[in-house]
Amino acid sequence: DKLKRVAIIGSGNWGSTIAKIVGNNIKKFGTFENEIKMYVYEEMIDGKKLTDIINQEHENKKYLPGHKLPDNVVACADVAESAKDADILLIVLPHQFIERTCSTMKDQIKRTAFAVSFSKGFYVNKDKKVELISAVINRQLDIPCYVLMGANIANEVAAGTFCEATVGSRNYEHAQLIKGLIQTDEFRIVIKPDTEVIEVLGALKNIVAVAAGFSDGLGFGDNTKAAVIRLGLKEMVKFCEEFFPGHHPQIFLESCGVADLVTTCYGGRNRRVAEAFVKTGKDIKTLEEEMLNGQKLQGPDAAAEVMEWLKSKGQTNKFPLFSAVHDICERRLEPKLLLEALRHHPEYW
Ligand code: NAD
Ligand code: 13P
Repeated sequence: DKLKRVAIIGSGNWGSTIAKIVGNNIKKFGTFENEIKMYVYEEMIDGKKLTDIINQEHENKKYLPGHKLPDNVVACADVAESAKDADILLIVLPHQFIERTCSTMKDQIKRTAFAVSFSKGFYVNKDKKVELISAVINRQLDIPCYVLMGANIANEVAAGTFCEATVGSRNYEHAQLIKGLIQTDEFRIVIKPDTEVIEVLGALKNIVAVAAGFSDGLGFGDNTKAAVIRLGLKEMVKFCEEFFPGHHPQIFLESCGVADLVTTCYGGRNRRVAEAFVKTGKDIKTLEEEMLNGQKLQGPDAAAEVMEWLKSKGQTNKFPLFSAVHDICERRLEPKLLLEALRHHPEYW
């Protein structure tokens, strides 16, 4: 049998971390084709192409500085070229770029390939129809798309401290391949069949993290933040029950659920920028540029996407925390009025 070929589409903070893990695993086990192409959205850094920096110095100096990438990871600025011949496509782009990027590689995809999405968010098309990112990938590339979500602050995962993640897949054989490719002693994988809910939790927790950041910025302390996290989790559960019935209720206790929510509300970029939003009065886009050095926020856009979803179902009033986050990001609501959304939450009716 020919060895399977892996490609990584994306090379940001998480994409580069996944490249480090997968590259090392492939070298160690020899059960996949050794070379991994990694699509890099090209940019110049101090007069040098990022792809050249990665291929010569084996480090993504911009998005994952301080971590060596294994030399079987080959940076490639052409997305179609990166995806061509791959049997397994690991798609790790900020969710805002998925639709456009997939449309440029769709003609190069092997018919027998499958994809794994690591992206947290939704896609809203021009008719305001909202789709899961995995559904966009499946529609564009016409191959199955599974998901990997979990409590995984990339810099910590790259440093090799212990953590876990949830893979969503109903295909046993593909799920085992994904686990074999990604699991290490320090990065443990649990496979669950509730693919849609696993993905939705990954997108929704970023909205809650924005609320947690507002709470921090307002100086409210640990009890308020715990209430934000709990009410946020209630809305995440309600969203899944309302729109994705039939999942196993224990799914919320997996890494993709409560664990990812907690880590993001303490250590994530969404939290950090939301705190600065309250403290500085600058807008989200400005802070993203000033604070994240090219990395992308997922939470504020996810809030807007979820509001489109809820509007189309006539259910905005049932998710006051999600609504408040969106309104605060859009400056239709003062940050301190987050408290009103909490105080009058349907939980207390
Ligand atoms: P990132 O935040 O580091 O984003 C920057 C990346 O986007 C860079 O590779 C940049 O080149 C690329 N980019 C910029 N403009 C682009 C364009 N027009 N087209 C295509 N690419 C472009 O990215 P990340 O941290 O790797 O996150 C990717 C996904 O993984 C997100 O959905 C995120 O929620 C998820 N995730 C991130 C982490 C984390 O800790 N970073 C952890 C788990 C999941
Ligand atoms: P942030 O994008 O808020 O940093 O969250 C990262 C993440 O998804 C951790 O699992």
